[in-house]
Amino acid sequence: RFSTAAATEELIIPPVQISHTQHLINGQFVDAASGKTFPTYDPRTGEVIAHVAEGDAEDINRAVAAARKAFDEGPWPKMSAYERSRILLRFADLVEKHSEELAALETWNNGKPYEQALHAEIPMLARLFHYYAGWADKIHGLTVPADGKYHIQTLHEPIGVAGQIIPWNFPLLMFAWKVGPALACGNTIVLKTAEQTPLTALYVAKLFQEAGLPPGVLNVVSGDGPTAGAPLASHMDVDKVAFTGSTDTGKIILELAARSNLKPVTLELGGKSPFIICEDADIDHAVELAHFALFFNQGQCCCAGSRTFVHERVYDEFIEKAKARAVKRVVGDPFKKGVEQGPQIDNEQFEKVLRYIRAGIDSDATLECGGGRLGSKGYFIEPTVFSNVKDDMLIAKDEIFGPVQSILKFKDLDEVVRRANATRYGLAAGVFTRNIDTANYFTRALRAGTVWVNCFDVFDAAIPFGGYKMSGIGREKGIYSLNNYLQVKAVVTPLKNPAW
Ligand code: NAD
Repeated sequence: RFSTAAATEELIIPPVQISHTQHLINGQFVDAASGKTFPTYDPRTGEVIAHVAEGDAEDINRAVAAARKAFDEGPWPKMSAYERSRILLRFADLVEKHSEELAALETWNNGKPYEQALHAEIPMLARLFHYYAGWADKIHGLTVPADGKYHIQTLHEPIGVAGQIIPWNFPLLMFAWKVGPALACGNTIVLKTAEQTPLTALYVAKLFQEAGLPPGVLNVVSGDGPTAGAPLASHMDVDKVAFTGSTDTGKIILELAARSNLKPVTLELGGKSPFIICEDADIDHAVELAHFALFFNQGQCCCAGSRTFVHERVYDEFIEKAKARAVKRVVGDPFKKGVEQGPQIDNEQFEKVLRYIRAGIDSDATLECGGGRLGSKGYFIEPTVFSNVKDDMLIAKDEIFGPVQSILKFKDLDEVVRRANATRYGLAAGVFTRNIDTANYFTRALRAGTVWVNCFDVFDAAIPFGGYKMSGIGREKGIYSLNNYLQVKAVVTPLKNPAW
Protein backbone atom coordinates (compact mmCIF):
# COMPACT_ATOMS: atom_id res chain seq x y z
CA ARG A 1 0.00 0.00 0.00
CA PHE A 2 1.05 3.57 -0.48
CA SER A 3 2.96 4.70 2.57
CA THR A 4 1.52 7.75 4.26
CA ALA A 5 4.52 7.99 6.57
CA ALA A 6 5.57 11.32 5.12
CA ALA A 7 2.02 12.58 4.82
CA THR A 8 0.79 15.82 6.25
CA GLU A 9 -2.91 16.40 6.85
CA GLU A 10 -3.05 18.12 3.48
CA LEU A 11 -2.23 14.94 1.57
CA ILE A 12 -5.19 13.49 -0.27
CA ILE A 13 -4.12 9.98 -1.05
CA PRO A 14 -6.79 7.39 -1.54
CA PRO A 15 -5.44 3.94 -0.69
CA VAL A 16 -4.21 2.10 -3.74
CA GLN A 17 -2.87 -1.37 -4.03
CA ILE A 18 -0.28 -2.29 -6.66
CA SER A 19 -1.94 -5.52 -7.65
CA HIS A 20 -0.50 -6.10 -11.12
CA THR A 21 3.18 -6.04 -12.05
CA GLN A 22 3.31 -8.99 -14.46
CA HIS A 23 2.66 -8.94 -18.22
CA LEU A 24 -0.88 -9.63 -19.38
CA ILE A 25 -0.66 -12.26 -22.11
CA ASN A 26 -3.59 -14.29 -23.38
CA GLY A 27 -5.76 -13.31 -20.44
CA GLN A 28 -3.20 -14.35 -17.79
CA PHE A 29 -0.89 -12.23 -15.69
CA VAL A 30 2.50 -13.89 -16.17
CA ASP A 31 6.15 -13.35 -15.28
CA ALA A 32 8.68 -12.38 -17.94
CA ALA A 33 9.99 -15.38 -19.90
CA SER A 34 13.47 -14.54 -18.57
CA GLY A 35 12.15 -14.16 -15.01
CA LYS A 36 13.66 -10.66 -14.93
CA THR A 37 12.07 -7.62 -13.31
CA PHE A 38 12.90 -3.92 -13.28
CA PRO A 39 12.18 -1.28 -10.66
CA THR A 40 9.61 1.46 -11.16
CA TYR A 41 9.92 4.69 -9.19
CA ASP A 42 8.06 7.41 -7.36
CA PRO A 43 9.31 10.65 -9.00
CA ARG A 44 8.61 12.59 -5.79
CA THR A 45 11.47 10.78 -4.06
CA GLY A 46 13.24 8.58 -6.59
CA GLU A 47 12.34 5.59 -4.40
CA VAL A 48 11.33 2.22 -5.82
CA ILE A 49 7.60 1.52 -5.58
CA ALA A 50 7.43 -1.86 -7.28
CA HIS A 51 9.32 -4.38 -9.39
CA VAL A 52 7.72 -5.11 -12.73
CA ALA A 53 8.17 -7.99 -15.19
CA GLU A 54 10.82 -7.00 -17.74
CA GLY A 55 9.79 -8.02 -21.21
CA ASP A 56 12.06 -8.86 -24.12
CA ALA A 57 11.68 -10.42 -27.56
CA GLU A 58 10.40 -13.71 -26.15
CA ASP A 59 7.58 -12.02 -24.20
CA ILE A 60 6.69 -10.02 -27.30
CA ASN A 61 6.61 -13.28 -29.34
CA ARG A 62 4.23 -14.83 -26.82
CA ALA A 63 2.01 -11.76 -26.70
CA VAL A 64 1.90 -11.50 -30.50
CA ALA A 65 1.05 -15.21 -30.78
CA ALA A 66 -1.87 -14.68 -28.36
CA ALA A 67 -3.08 -11.60 -30.24
CA ARG A 68 -2.73 -13.42 -33.57
CA LYS A 69 -4.79 -16.38 -32.33
CA ALA A 70 -7.44 -14.05 -30.85
CA PHE A 71 -7.66 -12.26 -34.18
CA ASP A 72 -7.58 -15.29 -36.51
CA GLU A 73 -9.83 -17.55 -34.46
CA GLY A 74 -12.01 -14.92 -32.85
CA PRO A 75 -14.39 -14.28 -31.33
CA TRP A 76 -13.37 -10.60 -31.17
CA PRO A 77 -13.26 -9.51 -34.85
CA LYS A 78 -16.24 -11.71 -35.67
CA MET A 79 -18.31 -10.75 -32.65
CA SER A 80 -21.27 -8.51 -33.33
CA ALA A 81 -20.21 -4.87 -33.29
CA TYR A 82 -22.95 -4.24 -30.73
CA GLU A 83 -21.37 -6.74 -28.33
CA ARG A 84 -17.94 -5.15 -28.80
CA SER A 85 -19.47 -1.78 -28.12
CA ARG A 86 -21.04 -3.09 -24.89
CA ILE A 87 -17.68 -4.37 -23.63
CA LEU A 88 -16.10 -0.97 -24.27
CA LEU A 89 -18.97 0.71 -22.43
CA ARG A 90 -18.66 -1.66 -19.47
CA PHE A 91 -14.94 -0.87 -19.36
CA ALA A 92 -15.61 2.88 -19.36
CA ASP A 93 -18.04 2.42 -16.48
CA LEU A 94 -15.41 0.46 -14.52
CA VAL A 95 -12.90 3.28 -15.09
CA GLU A 96 -15.38 5.70 -13.54
CA LYS A 97 -15.98 3.33 -10.62
CA HIS A 98 -12.23 3.02 -9.93
CA SER A 99 -11.31 6.60 -10.75
CA GLU A 100 -9.74 7.39 -7.38
CA GLU A 101 -7.40 4.38 -7.35
CA LEU A 102 -6.50 4.97 -10.98
CA ALA A 103 -5.73 8.64 -10.41
CA ALA A 104 -3.66 7.80 -7.33
CA LEU A 105 -1.64 5.17 -9.16
CA GLU A 106 -1.09 7.54 -12.10
CA THR A 107 0.18 10.25 -9.75
CA TRP A 108 2.31 7.86 -7.74
CA ASN A 109 4.12 6.48 -10.79
CA ASN A 110 4.18 9.65 -12.92
CA GLY A 111 4.24 12.59 -10.48
CA LYS A 112 1.38 14.56 -12.03
CA PRO A 113 -0.97 16.41 -9.65
CA TYR A 114 -3.56 14.04 -8.25
CA GLU A 115 -6.33 16.58 -8.76
CA GLN A 116 -5.41 16.85 -12.45
CA ALA A 117 -5.42 13.06 -12.80
CA LEU A 118 -8.72 12.69 -10.95
CA HIS A 119 -10.68 15.58 -12.43
CA ALA A 120 -9.28 15.79 -15.95
CA GLU A 121 -7.49 12.67 -17.09
CA ILE A 122 -9.55 9.83 -15.65
CA PRO A 123 -12.85 11.39 -16.82
CA MET A 124 -11.24 11.81 -20.26
CA LEU A 125 -10.15 8.18 -20.20
CA ALA A 126 -13.75 7.11 -19.61
CA ARG A 127 -15.00 9.61 -22.18
CA LEU A 128 -12.63 8.21 -24.83
CA PHE A 129 -13.95 4.69 -24.35
CA HIS A 130 -17.57 5.86 -24.36
CA TYR A 131 -16.75 7.64 -27.61
CA TYR A 132 -15.13 4.59 -29.25
CA ALA A 133 -17.90 2.32 -27.97
CA GLY A 134 -20.20 4.58 -29.96
CA TRP A 135 -18.15 4.01 -33.11
CA ALA A 136 -17.91 0.21 -32.83
CA ASP A 137 -21.32 -0.43 -34.42
CA LYS A 138 -21.19 2.46 -36.87
CA ILE A 139 -18.23 1.37 -38.99
CA HIS A 140 -19.35 0.40 -42.46
CA GLY A 141 -18.33 0.50 -46.09
CA LEU A 142 -19.91 1.98 -49.17
CA THR A 143 -21.66 0.86 -52.31
CA VAL A 144 -19.81 2.35 -55.23
CA PRO A 145 -21.25 3.22 -58.65
CA ALA A 146 -18.74 2.18 -61.33
CA ASP A 147 -18.74 1.58 -65.06
CA GLY A 148 -20.19 -1.72 -66.27
CA LYS A 149 -22.65 -4.15 -64.80
CA TYR A 150 -21.09 -4.78 -61.43
CA HIS A 151 -22.19 -4.52 -57.89
CA ILE A 152 -19.32 -2.91 -56.00
CA GLN A 153 -19.04 -2.56 -52.29
CA THR A 154 -16.28 -1.78 -49.82
CA LEU A 155 -15.83 -3.72 -46.61
CA HIS A 156 -14.08 -1.93 -43.78
CA GLU A 157 -12.19 -4.67 -41.99
CA PRO A 158 -9.88 -4.59 -38.98
CA ILE A 159 -6.18 -4.67 -39.90
CA GLY A 160 -5.28 -7.52 -37.54
CA VAL A 161 -2.73 -7.44 -34.74
CA ALA A 162 -1.83 -3.88 -33.72
CA GLY A 163 1.49 -3.18 -31.97
CA GLN A 164 1.26 -0.07 -29.82
CA ILE A 165 4.12 1.69 -28.03
CA ILE A 166 3.27 4.50 -25.63
CA PRO A 167 5.16 7.15 -23.61
CA TRP A 168 5.14 8.09 -19.93
CA ASN A 169 3.71 11.62 -19.92
CA PHE A 170 0.03 10.62 -20.06
CA PRO A 171 0.16 6.87 -19.48
CA LEU A 172 -3.61 6.31 -19.32
CA LEU A 173 -4.65 8.77 -21.99
CA MET A 174 -2.05 7.40 -24.40
CA PHE A 175 -3.41 3.93 -23.62
CA ALA A 176 -6.89 5.18 -24.56
CA TRP A 177 -5.84 6.98 -27.76
CA LYS A 178 -4.27 3.74 -28.96
CA VAL A 179 -6.48 0.99 -27.56
CA GLY A 180 -9.87 2.70 -28.08
CA PRO A 181 -9.91 2.90 -31.89
CA ALA A 182 -8.08 -0.42 -32.33
CA LEU A 183 -10.69 -2.32 -30.31
CA ALA A 184 -13.66 -0.43 -31.76
CA CYS A 185 -12.54 -1.56 -35.23
CA GLY A 186 -12.13 -5.20 -34.13
CA ASN A 187 -8.34 -5.50 -33.96
CA THR A 188 -6.31 -7.32 -31.33
CA ILE A 189 -3.42 -5.62 -29.55
CA VAL A 190 0.03 -5.96 -28.05
CA LEU A 191 0.73 -2.79 -26.10
CA LYS A 192 4.15 -1.89 -24.72
CA THR A 193 4.05 0.70 -21.97
CA ALA A 194 6.84 3.18 -21.22
CA GLU A 195 9.48 1.77 -18.89
CA GLN A 196 8.92 4.70 -16.49
CA THR A 197 5.17 4.15 -16.08
CA PRO A 198 4.09 0.52 -16.40
CA LEU A 199 1.53 0.36 -13.57
CA THR A 200 -1.75 1.96 -14.65
CA ALA A 201 -2.01 0.16 -18.00
CA LEU A 202 -1.81 -3.15 -16.14
CA TYR A 203 -4.52 -1.98 -13.76
CA VAL A 204 -6.89 -1.03 -16.57
CA ALA A 205 -6.04 -4.19 -18.51
CA LYS A 206 -7.46 -6.05 -15.51
CA LEU A 207 -10.60 -3.88 -15.71
CA PHE A 208 -10.94 -4.89 -19.37
CA GLN A 209 -10.99 -8.52 -18.28
CA GLU A 210 -13.75 -7.71 -15.82
CA ALA A 211 -15.64 -5.97 -18.62
CA GLY A 212 -15.61 -9.25 -20.59
CA LEU A 213 -12.84 -8.69 -23.14
CA PRO A 214 -11.88 -12.16 -24.46
CA PRO A 215 -8.35 -13.46 -23.67
CA GLY A 216 -5.62 -12.44 -26.11
CA VAL A 217 -7.46 -9.40 -27.45
CA LEU A 218 -5.43 -6.96 -25.34
CA ASN A 219 -1.94 -8.00 -24.25
CA VAL A 220 0.25 -5.66 -22.20
CA VAL A 221 4.02 -6.08 -21.98
CA SER A 222 6.28 -3.91 -19.80
CA GLY A 223 9.91 -3.26 -20.69
CA ASP A 224 12.49 -1.09 -22.38
CA GLY A 225 12.35 0.40 -25.86
CA PRO A 226 15.24 -1.37 -27.59
CA THR A 227 14.58 -4.76 -25.94
CA ALA A 228 10.74 -4.93 -25.94
CA GLY A 229 9.55 -2.07 -28.18
CA ALA A 230 11.86 -2.84 -31.10
CA PRO A 231 10.89 -6.54 -31.37
CA LEU A 232 7.25 -5.43 -31.45
CA ALA A 233 7.80 -2.83 -34.19
CA SER A 234 9.77 -5.33 -36.28
CA HIS A 235 7.58 -8.38 -35.67
CA MET A 236 6.52 -10.17 -38.86
CA ASP A 237 3.15 -11.11 -37.40
CA VAL A 238 2.20 -7.60 -36.32
CA ASP A 239 0.03 -5.92 -38.96
CA LYS A 240 0.27 -2.31 -37.84
CA VAL A 241 2.27 -0.25 -35.40
CA ALA A 242 1.29 2.94 -33.59
CA PHE A 243 3.79 4.95 -31.58
CA THR A 244 3.88 8.09 -29.45
CA GLY A 245 7.17 9.50 -28.20
CA SER A 246 10.24 11.31 -29.44
CA THR A 247 10.92 12.07 -33.09
CA ASP A 248 14.22 10.17 -32.93
CA THR A 249 12.52 7.00 -31.73
CA GLY A 250 9.72 7.54 -34.25
CA LYS A 251 12.30 7.30 -37.05
CA ILE A 252 13.57 4.01 -35.61
CA ILE A 253 10.01 2.63 -35.48
CA LEU A 254 9.39 3.57 -39.10
CA GLU A 255 12.63 1.90 -40.14
CA LEU A 256 11.89 -1.27 -38.16
CA ALA A 257 8.44 -1.46 -39.72
CA ALA A 258 9.83 -0.96 -43.22
CA ARG A 259 12.65 -3.48 -42.82
CA SER A 260 10.33 -6.19 -41.50
CA ASN A 261 6.94 -6.59 -43.14
CA LEU A 262 6.20 -3.03 -44.27
CA LYS A 263 3.45 -2.69 -41.70
CA PRO A 264 1.66 0.68 -41.76
CA VAL A 265 2.81 3.11 -39.07
CA THR A 266 1.19 5.98 -37.25
CA LEU A 267 3.44 8.30 -35.29
CA GLU A 268 2.68 11.04 -32.79
CA LEU A 269 5.97 12.76 -32.05
CA GLY A 270 7.53 15.86 -30.62
CA GLY A 271 6.76 19.53 -31.07
CA LYS A 272 7.94 23.09 -30.55
CA SER A 273 4.56 24.71 -30.77
CA PRO A 274 4.21 28.48 -31.18
CA PHE A 275 1.80 30.43 -28.98
CA ILE A 276 1.24 33.82 -30.62
CA ILE A 277 -0.10 36.83 -28.72
CA CYS A 278 -1.19 39.74 -30.91
CA GLU A 279 -1.32 43.33 -29.73
CA ASP A 280 -5.13 43.31 -29.58
CA ALA A 281 -5.32 40.21 -27.37
CA ASP A 282 -6.85 40.12 -23.90
CA ILE A 283 -3.47 40.13 -22.19
CA ASP A 284 -4.46 38.75 -18.81
CA HIS A 285 -6.24 35.85 -20.45
CA ALA A 286 -3.32 35.30 -22.83
CA VAL A 287 -0.81 35.31 -19.96
CA GLU A 288 -2.81 32.70 -18.07
CA LEU A 289 -3.26 30.45 -21.09
CA ALA A 290 0.34 30.82 -22.30
CA HIS A 291 1.37 29.77 -18.78
CA PHE A 292 -0.98 26.80 -18.87
CA ALA A 293 0.07 25.91 -22.43
CA LEU A 294 3.68 25.53 -21.32
CA PHE A 295 3.62 24.44 -17.68
CA PHE A 296 0.72 21.97 -17.79
CA ASN A 297 1.85 18.45 -16.82
CA GLN A 298 5.27 19.74 -15.68
CA GLY A 299 5.89 20.95 -19.23
CA GLN A 300 5.86 17.33 -20.39
CA CYS A 301 3.38 17.71 -23.25
CA CYS A 302 4.18 17.01 -26.88
CA CYS A 303 2.03 20.02 -27.86
CA ALA A 304 3.34 22.38 -25.15
CA GLY A 305 3.25 26.03 -26.26
CA SER A 306 7.01 26.23 -25.94
CA ARG A 307 7.67 29.28 -28.11
CA THR A 308 5.65 32.20 -26.76
CA PHE A 309 5.68 34.94 -29.44
CA VAL A 310 4.49 38.30 -28.11
CA HIS A 311 3.80 41.45 -30.15
CA GLU A 312 6.32 44.21 -29.36
CA ARG A 313 3.62 46.65 -28.21
CA VAL A 314 2.45 44.37 -25.41
CA TYR A 315 5.75 42.58 -24.83
CA ASP A 316 6.91 44.34 -21.63
CA GLU A 317 3.52 44.07 -19.97
CA PHE A 318 3.33 40.41 -20.95
CA ILE A 319 6.78 39.59 -19.53
CA GLU A 320 5.95 41.17 -16.18
CA LYS A 321 2.68 39.28 -15.92
CA ALA A 322 4.07 35.97 -17.20
CA LYS A 323 6.85 36.15 -14.65
CA ALA A 324 4.43 37.02 -11.82
CA ARG A 325 2.26 34.07 -12.79
CA ALA A 326 5.19 31.63 -12.91
CA VAL A 327 6.46 32.79 -9.51
CA LYS A 328 2.99 32.08 -8.08
CA ARG A 329 2.86 28.55 -9.50
CA VAL A 330 2.35 26.01 -6.73
CA VAL A 331 5.00 23.31 -6.98
CA GLY A 332 5.13 20.44 -4.54
CA ASP A 333 3.96 16.98 -3.62
CA PRO A 334 1.41 16.18 -6.32
CA PHE A 335 -0.83 14.52 -3.77
CA LYS A 336 -1.32 17.83 -1.97
CA LYS A 337 -4.42 19.90 -2.59
CA GLY A 338 -3.86 22.95 -4.78
CA VAL A 339 -0.53 21.75 -6.18
CA GLU A 340 -0.18 22.70 -9.85
CA GLN A 341 3.18 21.14 -10.59
CA GLY A 342 4.80 17.94 -9.40
CA PRO A 343 8.21 16.45 -10.19
CA GLN A 344 9.59 15.61 -13.64
CA ILE A 345 9.26 11.96 -14.53
CA ASP A 346 12.79 10.73 -13.81
CA ASN A 347 16.39 11.71 -13.29
CA GLU A 348 17.19 11.59 -17.00
CA GLN A 349 14.46 14.08 -17.89
CA PHE A 350 15.28 16.20 -14.83
CA GLU A 351 18.94 16.47 -15.85
CA LYS A 352 18.01 17.13 -19.46
CA VAL A 353 15.72 20.03 -18.53
CA LEU A 354 18.38 21.53 -16.23
CA ARG A 355 20.89 21.30 -19.11
CA TYR A 356 18.52 23.30 -21.32
CA ILE A 357 18.09 25.89 -18.59
CA ARG A 358 21.87 26.23 -18.41
CA ALA A 359 22.00 26.58 -22.20
CA GLY A 360 19.41 29.37 -21.94
CA ILE A 361 21.43 31.16 -19.28
CA ASP A 362 24.62 30.76 -21.32
CA SER A 363 22.97 32.29 -24.38
CA ASP A 364 21.80 35.91 -24.31
CA ALA A 365 18.30 35.08 -23.10
CA THR A 366 17.18 36.83 -19.90
CA LEU A 367 16.30 34.55 -17.01
CA GLU A 368 13.22 36.20 -15.50
CA CYS A 369 12.58 33.62 -12.79
CA GLY A 370 13.31 30.06 -11.71
CA GLY A 371 16.28 28.32 -13.25
CA GLY A 372 17.07 25.61 -10.74
CA ARG A 373 16.10 22.52 -8.87
CA LEU A 374 13.49 22.77 -6.14
CA GLY A 375 14.24 20.98 -2.87
CA SER A 376 16.83 18.26 -2.51
CA LYS A 377 14.72 15.14 -3.07
CA GLY A 378 12.86 13.97 -6.16
CA TYR A 379 12.82 15.66 -9.56
CA PHE A 380 11.24 19.06 -8.89
CA ILE A 381 12.22 22.05 -11.06
CA GLU A 382 11.39 25.71 -10.48
CA PRO A 383 8.98 27.22 -13.00
CA THR A 384 11.37 29.02 -15.29
CA VAL A 385 10.77 31.95 -17.65
CA PHE A 386 13.20 33.27 -20.24
CA SER A 387 12.61 36.51 -22.14
CA ASN A 388 14.60 37.97 -25.06
CA VAL A 389 14.77 34.53 -26.60
CA LYS A 390 16.00 34.46 -30.21
CA ASP A 391 14.99 31.95 -32.87
CA ASP A 392 18.44 30.41 -33.19
CA MET A 393 18.91 29.66 -29.47
CA LEU A 394 18.77 26.03 -28.41
CA ILE A 395 15.87 26.72 -26.03
CA ALA A 396 13.85 28.07 -28.98
CA LYS A 397 14.64 25.13 -31.24
CA ASP A 398 14.66 21.93 -29.16
CA GLU A 399 11.83 20.21 -27.35
CA ILE A 400 12.75 20.80 -23.69
CA PHE A 401 9.82 18.84 -22.23
CA GLY A 402 9.99 20.70 -18.94
CA PRO A 403 8.72 23.79 -17.07
CA VAL A 404 10.70 26.33 -19.11
CA GLN A 405 8.87 29.13 -20.91
CA SER A 406 10.70 30.89 -23.77
CA ILE A 407 9.30 34.29 -24.76
CA LEU A 408 10.13 35.87 -28.12
CA LYS A 409 9.22 39.29 -29.54
CA PHE A 410 7.60 39.93 -32.95
CA LYS A 411 6.55 42.95 -35.03
CA ASP A 412 4.15 41.87 -37.75
CA LEU A 413 1.99 38.98 -38.81
CA ASP A 414 3.91 37.75 -41.85
CA GLU A 415 7.11 37.78 -39.86
CA VAL A 416 5.67 35.76 -36.97
CA VAL A 417 4.06 33.23 -39.30
CA ARG A 418 7.38 32.70 -41.04
CA ARG A 419 9.21 32.30 -37.74
CA ALA A 420 6.51 30.12 -36.19
CA ASN A 421 6.71 27.77 -39.19
CA ALA A 422 10.52 27.72 -39.23
CA THR A 423 10.80 24.47 -37.27
CA ARG A 424 11.03 20.81 -38.14
CA TYR A 425 7.91 20.27 -36.04
CA GLY A 426 4.24 21.00 -36.74
CA LEU A 427 2.13 19.60 -33.95
CA ALA A 428 0.10 22.52 -32.61
CA ALA A 429 -0.16 26.30 -32.37
CA GLY A 430 -2.03 28.86 -30.29
CA VAL A 431 -3.18 32.28 -31.47
CA PHE A 432 -4.46 35.11 -29.31
CA THR A 433 -6.31 37.95 -31.04
CA ARG A 434 -9.71 39.64 -30.98
CA ASN A 435 -9.66 40.17 -34.74
CA ILE A 436 -11.44 37.47 -36.74
CA ASP A 437 -9.47 38.26 -39.90
CA THR A 438 -6.16 37.89 -38.07
CA ALA A 439 -7.37 34.61 -36.57
CA ASN A 440 -8.42 33.32 -40.00
CA TYR A 441 -5.08 34.34 -41.47
CA PHE A 442 -3.19 32.38 -38.80
CA THR A 443 -5.37 29.30 -38.92
CA ARG A 444 -4.61 28.93 -42.65
CA ALA A 445 -0.96 30.00 -42.59
CA LEU A 446 0.33 27.96 -39.64
CA ARG A 447 1.62 24.52 -40.55
CA ALA A 448 0.38 22.55 -37.55
CA GLY A 449 -2.06 19.72 -36.89
CA THR A 450 -4.05 21.80 -34.37
CA VAL A 451 -4.52 25.56 -34.15
CA TRP A 452 -6.17 26.77 -30.97
CA VAL A 453 -7.62 30.29 -31.21
CA ASN A 454 -8.00 32.13 -27.90
CA CYS A 455 -7.68 28.82 -26.09
CA PHE A 456 -5.12 26.04 -25.71
CA ASP A 457 -4.99 22.33 -24.90
CA VAL A 458 -8.68 21.86 -25.58
CA PHE A 459 -9.00 18.13 -26.10
CA ASP A 460 -11.97 15.97 -26.78
CA ALA A 461 -12.37 12.39 -27.93
CA ALA A 462 -13.90 13.70 -31.15
CA ILE A 463 -11.17 16.23 -32.02
CA PRO A 464 -8.40 14.78 -34.24
CA PHE A 465 -4.82 15.24 -33.07
CA GLY A 466 -1.54 14.75 -34.91
CA GLY A 467 1.36 16.46 -36.56
CA TYR A 468 2.60 18.08 -39.74
CA LYS A 469 6.24 17.60 -40.73
CA MET A 470 8.40 15.74 -38.18
CA SER A 471 5.68 15.81 -35.54
CA GLY A 472 4.18 12.67 -36.93
CA ILE A 473 2.15 10.68 -39.40
CA GLY A 474 -1.60 10.24 -39.13
CA ARG A 475 -4.26 11.50 -36.75
CA GLU A 476 -5.48 10.08 -33.48
CA LYS A 477 -8.93 10.55 -31.90
CA GLY A 478 -12.06 11.50 -33.76
CA ILE A 479 -13.36 9.84 -36.88
CA TYR A 480 -9.91 10.07 -38.51
CA SER A 481 -8.37 7.67 -36.00
CA LEU A 482 -10.50 4.78 -37.25
CA ASN A 483 -8.69 4.74 -40.60
CA ASN A 484 -5.48 3.77 -38.77
CA TYR A 485 -7.07 0.49 -37.75
CA LEU A 486 -9.08 -0.44 -40.83
CA GLN A 487 -8.38 -2.07 -44.15
CA VAL A 488 -10.64 -1.29 -47.09
CA LYS A 489 -11.57 -4.27 -49.23
CA ALA A 490 -13.28 -3.71 -52.58
CA VAL A 491 -15.72 -6.47 -53.49
CA VAL A 492 -16.80 -6.68 -57.13
CA THR A 493 -19.66 -8.90 -58.23
CA PRO A 494 -21.09 -9.10 -61.80
CA LEU A 495 -24.76 -8.29 -62.07
CA LYS A 496 -26.39 -11.15 -63.95
CA ASN A 497 -29.96 -9.98 -64.38
CA PRO A 498 -31.12 -11.62 -67.67
CA ALA A 499 -33.51 -8.73 -68.28
CA TRP A 500 -30.52 -6.42 -68.99
P1 NAD B 1 11.10 7.70 -26.32
O1 NAD B 1 10.52 8.14 -27.60
O2 NAD B 1 12.44 7.08 -26.38
O3 NAD B 1 10.11 6.64 -25.60
C1 NAD B 1 8.75 6.51 -25.90
C2 NAD B 1 8.40 5.03 -26.01
O4 NAD B 1 9.19 4.43 -27.03
C3 NAD B 1 8.68 4.21 -24.74
O5 NAD B 1 7.68 3.23 -24.60
C4 NAD B 1 10.01 3.57 -25.05
O6 NAD B 1 10.24 2.39 -24.35
C5 NAD B 1 9.86 3.29 -26.54
N1 NAD B 1 11.14 3.13 -27.25
C6 NAD B 1 12.31 3.77 -27.01
N2 NAD B 1 13.27 3.33 -27.86
C7 NAD B 1 12.69 2.41 -28.66
C8 NAD B 1 13.15 1.59 -29.73
N3 NAD B 1 14.42 1.64 -30.13
N4 NAD B 1 12.29 0.76 -30.33
C9 NAD B 1 11.00 0.71 -29.93
N5 NAD B 1 10.50 1.43 -28.91
C10 NAD B 1 11.33 2.29 -28.29
O7 NAD B 1 11.08 8.92 -25.32
P2 NAD B 1 11.87 9.12 -23.93
O8 NAD B 1 13.27 8.62 -24.04
O9 NAD B 1 11.03 8.58 -22.85
O10 NAD B 1 11.87 10.71 -23.84
C11 NAD B 1 12.78 11.43 -24.64
C12 NAD B 1 12.14 12.67 -25.20
O11 NAD B 1 11.05 12.32 -26.04
C13 NAD B 1 11.51 13.61 -24.19
O12 NAD B 1 12.42 14.45 -23.60
C14 NAD B 1 10.53 14.35 -25.02
O13 NAD B 1 11.16 15.40 -25.69
C15 NAD B 1 10.07 13.30 -26.01
N6 NAD B 1 8.77 12.69 -25.64
C16 NAD B 1 7.69 13.01 -26.37
C17 NAD B 1 6.47 12.47 -26.04
C18 NAD B 1 5.23 12.82 -26.81
O14 NAD B 1 4.15 12.74 -26.27
N7 NAD B 1 5.34 13.14 -28.08
C19 NAD B 1 6.34 11.62 -24.94
C20 NAD B 1 7.48 11.27 -24.23
C21 NAD B 1 8.70 11.82 -24.60
